[in-house]
Amino acid sequence: MEKTTSLVKKLKNKAASYEHLAHLTLIQGEMFGWDHTACAITYNKSIPGAESYLLHEFGHALKNHSGYKSDVGLVKIERDAWEEARIIGKELGISISDDLIESSLDTYRDWLHSRSLCPTCDATGIQSAELKYACASCGATWRVNEARTCGLKRYKY
Ligand SMILES: [Zn+2]
Ligand SMILES: [Zn+2]
Repeated sequence: MEKTTSLVKKLKNKAASYEHLAHLTLIQGEMFGWDHTACAITYNKSIPGAESYLLHEFGHALKNHSGYKSDVGLVKIERDAWEEARIIGKELGISISDDLIESSLDTYRDWLHSRSLCPTCDATGIQSAELKYACASCGATWRVNEARTCGLKRYKY
């Protein structure tokens, strides 16, 4: 837990050298998340792997991730944030395990797969709009819930 607190301090210092993160705030909360509009990272230091997840959110912040237009886009920004997290982690002497990254990305892949399955015939559908899928084999269409994220707040278009 102390390790997380010291990482928070280091990240605050690091943020100061980036113009778009000059006002970054890090707030303790229940979940990990990056809020683009508030320029704020939420973290929970009692979650196992907290340092890794904190670096991941900082990755979103560095990349200034603001939202995604499709489910596939969401998985891509998740991967990008982990890549950034690894680079910053290396600088700060914190290594992030491949297993943690892969299992985190797997939950997105599983989620993506399950919502793309046609409820009528089980074929894989195609996302036709932000929250809508269509099946090419039977013609069914279905709506899906707002995408879940690690906590990334969606930018309001
Ligand atoms: Zn179908
Ligand atoms: Zn994320």
